[in-house]
Amino acid sequence: MTNSRGCEELGPKKWAYKLTHILDATLGSARFPIDVPLVAKEITKTLFPDDPITLVKGAELEDFEGALFKAPERKKGWGIIYNSALTSEGRINFTLAHEFGHYLLHRKKYPEGIQCSERELLDWKSEIGRIEGEANEFASNFLMPLNDFKEIISPTEEACRLLLGEAADRYNTSFTATTLRWLAYTEKKAVLVVSRDGFILWAWSSKSAYKAGYYIKTNGLAPKSLPKESLAAQIQPNLTVNDRVLHKSNVWFDNSSIEHCFNSEQYDLVISIIYIP
Ligand SMILES: [Zn+2]
Repeated sequence: MTNSRGCEELGPKKWAYKLTHILDATLGSARFPIDVPLVAKEITKTLFPDDPITLVKGAELEDFEGALFKAPERKKGWGIIYNSALTSEGRINFTLAHEFGHYLLHRKKYPEGIQCSERELLDWKSEIGRIEGEANEFASNFLMPLNDFKEIISPTEEACRLLLGEAADRYNTSFTATTLRWLAYTEKKAVLVVSRDGFILWAWSSKSAYKAGYYIKTNGLAPKSLPKESLAAQIQPNLTVNDRVLHKSNVWFDNSSIEHCFNSEQYDLVISIIYIP
């Protein structure tokens, strides 16, 4: 089934651009952080009057971060719920945008709705993993539009805790989601490394770092120790440290590198951003 406006075939990025254009024209740049419940209800009322989002709320959801669900029989429309046990505003905001993405991209294929757990978000191989990735791509592009983000950190600039924190505040997104968004467009060779108790949990490279061979594989592998000389290995737990050091070669990679390192406010994580000059 297609609608008269021909919106059904858009992918996650195109949908985000389309909504960004609408919001730019109506609200301008003072709209950040985006009020996802308001925008989701207003925009779907206009674009899909027979099938809009009519409800957004928190609820007790065991094992799920969020869900998109169909209204009960004889009522039209859709609802978005997020797990009310979530305490981080940034995570709630991202979850709402993720479910809005499922509505725009996947509701025809999943007419009964979709429930999203944290574990499923990590399973990229299955069909579920694919649609989770698409919903995340939409949420990231919708909440943190490229043109606006570039005003805070230009593609050729070295990002630090302070600048990324400024962006996270503007968009009401978690530090991790904000950093991943920046890594998607920066021209710097940069690698984000997230660790806990001396072990690397996961890592993500910018495009230019990946192409040059600077990446750390973690998927399906036993946890790797942090390099002994890295700042992350020396950081004290539960301290907010923001530091930048120049490493000689063979600390993180064969080449010399610059490491920014600090404790995350959540989950006892240590975050490193590594630049390869
Ligand atoms: Zn999902």
